Amino acid sequence: MFNVYLSLGTNLGDRQANLQHAVAHIEKEIGRKVCLSAFYETEPWGFTSPNAFLNAAMCVETSLSPSEVLEATQRIEKEIGRAHKSVNGQYADRLIDIDLLLMGEVVMQTERLTLPHPLMHRRLFVMEPMVEIAPTVVHPVLHKTICEIYNTLKQ
Ligand code: AMP
Repeated sequence: MFNVYLSLGTNLGDRQANLQHAVAHIEKEIGRKVCLSAFYETEPWGFTSPNAFLNAAMCVETSLSPSEVLEATQRIEKEIGRAHKSVNGQYADRLIDIDLLLMGEVVMQTERLTLPHPLMHRRLFVMEPMVEIAPTVVHPVLHKTICEIYNTLKQ
């Protein structure tokens, strides 16, 4: 069994409902919810849009493998209505985006999946909900706690 940490984001439609639907799908298809952060309103990152994001972090206990979790999150993104992950490699508005942040101590890099998520420690919209639910969890590459990474990012 793994504890997998997921990042959830949406900036279109009924954002609260989008996150709640994603959480329900995750519980059904990936595993038991260990904890879920509050929903945080954040500015778009990496592109310009009038639509602010609602972001959350979630910890789930799962018996799936990392690639099975990725398959499940991509299936859920499609089910909730996101047709394309990104347009021409650019960031874009989205109904729901689910990223795998951490999965136990797993460190891996394949064409489809990098763990820990390579940008998580640079994104406040990821680290803010994470510090709420997992302040003492240690990043297996940076060897720092989520709280330490968050404090560095905030400076
Ligand atoms: P994005 O559109 O920014 O959400 O990027 C999604 C793409 O990143 C997908 O094609 C995934 O296969 C790939 N990817 C690599 N590592 C991860 C990860 N840790 N979580 C989610 N997607 C990942």
